[in-house]
Amino acid sequence: MAQLIVSKFGGTSMGDAECILRSAEVAFRQNSSMVVVSATSGTTNDLISLGNKAEKSTWAECETIIKKIQDRHRKIAADLNADANSVKKLETLFEEMQSLAKGVHLLRDCSVKAMDALMSLGERTSSVLFAVAMAKVLKERGSDKNAELIDVRDVLKTDDLFGKAKPLTALVASHCQRHLPNIRSFKTVFVTQGYIGSTEEGMTTTLGRGGSDYSAAILAEGVAADVLEIWTDVAGIATTDPRLCAKAKPIAEISFKEASELATFGAKVLHPATLLPAIRKNIPVFVGSSFDAEAKGTWVRKEVEQHPLIRAMAIRKNQVLVTLSTPEMLHAHGFLFQIFKIFNDHKVSIDAITTSEISVSVTLDDSTLLNKKLISDLSEIADVQVEENLSLVSLIGNNINHTSGLGKEIFETISDINVRMICLGASKHNFCFLVNEEHGPVAIQKLHHKFVELA
Ligand code: ADP
Ligand code: ASP
Ligand code: MG
Repeated sequence: MAQLIVSKFGGTSMGDAECILRSAEVAFRQNSSMVVVSATSGTTNDLISLGNKAEKSTWAECETIIKKIQDRHRKIAADLNADANSVKKLETLFEEMQSLAKGVHLLRDCSVKAMDALMSLGERTSSVLFAVAMAKVLKERGSDKNAELIDVRDVLKTDDLFGKAKPLTALVASHCQRHLPNIRSFKTVFVTQGYIGSTEEGMTTTLGRGGSDYSAAILAEGVAADVLEIWTDVAGIATTDPRLCAKAKPIAEISFKEASELATFGAKVLHPATLLPAIRKNIPVFVGSSFDAEAKGTWVRKEVEQHPLIRAMAIRKNQVLVTLSTPEMLHAHGFLFQIFKIFNDHKVSIDAITTSEISVSVTLDDSTLLNKKLISDLSEIADVQVEENLSLVSLIGNNINHTSGLGKEIFETISDINVRMICLGASKHNFCFLVNEEHGPVAIQKLHHKFVELA
């Protein structure tokens, strides 16, 4: 029986008409039934800057950005020789962009909700273009399939946490059944948007930056896909970010658990939540390059053949270390509960944690500090010390917490770098520690040399 494949193409695969056509060729070659696309490269950033300028600057500045976005998309549409109906769809979306920006400008208020509505236009416009390219490729290849553009907001239902909405998976599955009942007849390639969804009431939401990977995984779960493919600008998941270390090597196969750690601890190639639906439904995930579809790429699966001690490493920048100290913690109970309750009330997630008798240190994304109320609430129960400009370096592999001598080897390798905090023990797949931001890249390069290049 034919496999049901969901393929996602990121912004890097959506740069211009040539990239989009190349991506559509990949989708054709792979026999994809559903294609999930990101905004064209740079557009989400432009839309964010449009929202901010509409709130704070002149309308003339907004018009400049609107024109830039429109020109980019009009050029791609012209290069693809788009049909009149698709061009009309694009122009209608541009009108919506203009009205939304005008509304924000008049009110001088760009709420998260308004920002989501604005940002959704990135994926909504790019998907119109991809559907044109997909139809073109299907026709040129003499396929009897057709390309159909669908509005993902009809199926990808989320809660109302605008800016970082959570998909409602049971609803997504039932909406997929209702809207895509014949997907397994393999007659149609459904083209749709990543990153966005809508509440049950129909308000547009987004899943957080880089969220198209997650959208594709949620949809793969919703349609009970056999394979999820993530097509990007690198030929798979590498032993570390190739931009950081030229000797990074593609990984042929990695387990769900290791890849989840890698994504959570900073490997941008996958949005951190991407593997959750894949793990729930045991859907193998392929990561490959749309620029070089022949390259081997990476398979992420539940079971893998090799279990190296260190398979890969990642860096998570823009970290702050918040240390809470109080003598009242000595021999007392409930202190951690109070701390976590405050973080929970503020919906802030902690990445790493370490405790001593009278203090607790946690690492957070630095954007958290914008939340002044969080820090003042924490100050009510302890002295709070905040250290900024830190990076969390993680080594990902297997049996890490049961391997003697590993800590020694790691810290010998980077003995000239001060390590501010260490986290080991909770996971057999991860050893992470905090260093000053400026030491992050060199720590990765040295560790990569020691544990990957010399291994
Ligand atoms: P897309 O637009 O396709 O979603 P992203 O820019 O979000 O692409 O992710 C791809 C980028 O992730 C790569 O260009 C690479 O620099 C970065 N990256 C970080 N860590 C890794 C890793 N371990 N393996 C591969 N790429 C990585
Ligand atoms: N377009 C969105 C972003 O730039 C989502 C994505 O590309 O995954 O964050
Ligand atoms: Mg991405």
